[in-house]
Amino acid sequence: MSEEKNLNFIEEIIEEDLKSGKYDCIVTRFPPEPNGYLHIGHAKAICLNFGLSKKYGGYTNLRFDDTNPVTEDTEYVESIKEDIQWLGFQWKNESYASDYFETLYGYAVKLIEKGLAYVDDSTPDEIAAMKGTPTEPGKNSPYRDRSVEENLRLFADMRSGKYSDGAKVLRAKIDMASPNMHMRDPIMYRIKHAHHHRTGDAWCIYPMYDFAHGQSDSIEQVTHSICTLEFVPHRELYDWFITQLEIFPSHQYEFARLNLNYTVMSKRKLLQLVNDKYVDGWNDPRMPTISGMRRRGYTPEAIRDFCDRIGIAKRENLIDISLLEFFVREHLNKIAIRRMVVFDSIKVVLTNYEGAVEMLEGEDNPEDENSGKRQIPFGKELYIEREDFMENPPKKYFRLYPGGMVRLKHAYIIKCEKAIKDEAGTITELHCTYIPESKSGADTSGVNVKGTLHWVEVTNAITAEVRLYDRLFKVEDPQHEEGDFKDYINPDSLQVIKTVYAEPSLKNAKMNDRYQFLRKGYFTLDNQDTHGRLLFNRTVTLKDAWAKEQKKAMNN
Ligand code: ATP
Ligand code: MG
Repeated sequence: MSEEKNLNFIEEIIEEDLKSGKYDCIVTRFPPEPNGYLHIGHAKAICLNFGLSKKYGGYTNLRFDDTNPVTEDTEYVESIKEDIQWLGFQWKNESYASDYFETLYGYAVKLIEKGLAYVDDSTPDEIAAMKGTPTEPGKNSPYRDRSVEENLRLFADMRSGKYSDGAKVLRAKIDMASPNMHMRDPIMYRIKHAHHHRTGDAWCIYPMYDFAHGQSDSIEQVTHSICTLEFVPHRELYDWFITQLEIFPSHQYEFARLNLNYTVMSKRKLLQLVNDKYVDGWNDPRMPTISGMRRRGYTPEAIRDFCDRIGIAKRENLIDISLLEFFVREHLNKIAIRRMVVFDSIKVVLTNYEGAVEMLEGEDNPEDENSGKRQIPFGKELYIEREDFMENPPKKYFRLYPGGMVRLKHAYIIKCEKAIKDEAGTITELHCTYIPESKSGADTSGVNVKGTLHWVEVTNAITAEVRLYDRLFKVEDPQHEEGDFKDYINPDSLQVIKTVYAEPSLKNAKMNDRYQFLRKGYFTLDNQDTHGRLLFNRTVTLKDAWAKEQKKAMNN
């Protein structure tokens, strides 16, 4: 029996198309322009396109939309492929719009022959002036009625390099009075003497998006060409070219792009952040790029769950990044290996602890029955967090204070006897006693305490660096604020803690392992070369501290 699940509007269309026999194999494509790294918005489009073809037993092509020779680069091509595979998807064919330049040229010739395209010598300004406005019709170009023969000759000359950039364009001959501005004799080809990352110097004319995209879809027999809402007005032209050329009937469908708060999502803006060194490259863990999220420790599962959950909308909206973080936490809680790490330490000396270091046991992940256990050294001298001690605690303070007791996780209950201070009055050490009968798992002490602290034994502690991240922007929607979006960058988005103390089992931390540092959040090793140093990125905090802070700020 088929699942009685709510279908989204594209699934409804696809099921209808399969039922009516319009198509028998569902083919989608993901068409990035290789002019930047992919971001979480692209992840949404990837999950949608690959998800649909998978659900309906078809396939998805990865097609690089490389019709603009100036901004494209093979570095981007490689990163895009890596990111899609990391997200867990595999394309059937890898193609390039530039592979179709010869076919597209042939299509253009066919339209000229049908009297549906012409070479225009007008300057860009003249063309713009003749375009009209949404309420007034445009004017026909004086070159509009050139003969087919003359157009064929001029178009061939454009290709052979006879003219300089901007001297001529090829336009479709449609209707200068159309209420749809895109139908007012749109430009199909422009002259650009530029080196292309794949075709080199073979071409000096390049097709415009509208003349490349739909035709490439059709060549690849894409059935459902899914794009974002800004292409709604292009659809009429998409259909017009396919109808006039009498080629495979691909169809375009639109959904709302994903916008996330506290970040920007246009590649142009992200490139500025990289070039102006506001961030450490495209894969900086604060970036909304897929490579940044990977470096930060987000999992593909969490990103896919998030994309599924937000669904597809027909109206633009701003999604709260906390929702993405919710899915990240949810997944990491299931898979993360638990470890203890002290960020800002104060030393505890157990005055009644005699003898050598002993080994205690702690489970790697209480959420996972199949996970193992690790050995944790315990001894006379320990580090705990400085913030876990207060000399004069308020009521209901369950951490450590003079005379107070806490449990050390996986270990014993300790009691603080005395805070030792230096001449300046700063606390340097805590003298405590421990209850030998209170060992975790074998506690016969009968003592009950409310607080549990993480800790690290001093002589076996290893050191590491940790990096904590906050929102990259101070405001929810930096692109729609007054002035430059870069003025709204959060100056405190990165906090580096050079030396933290960790339990020794973290020495063997592996790339791609996910950790929960108890009470500190989820962490992963940085995937850049750190020259043998242990460097952990905080993926996300344990709780949504941000939402809490915001609420506090609002109440103040
Ligand atoms: P940007 O505006 O960030 O530069 P783009 O649309 O120019 O993005 P493309 O490389 O052309 O980027 O996009 C490839 C595919 O990803 C397109 O089908 C596009 O519609 C889709 N896409 C891009 N951004 C988003 C987004 N924020 N939400 C959903 N889909 C997106
Ligand atoms: Mg684009």
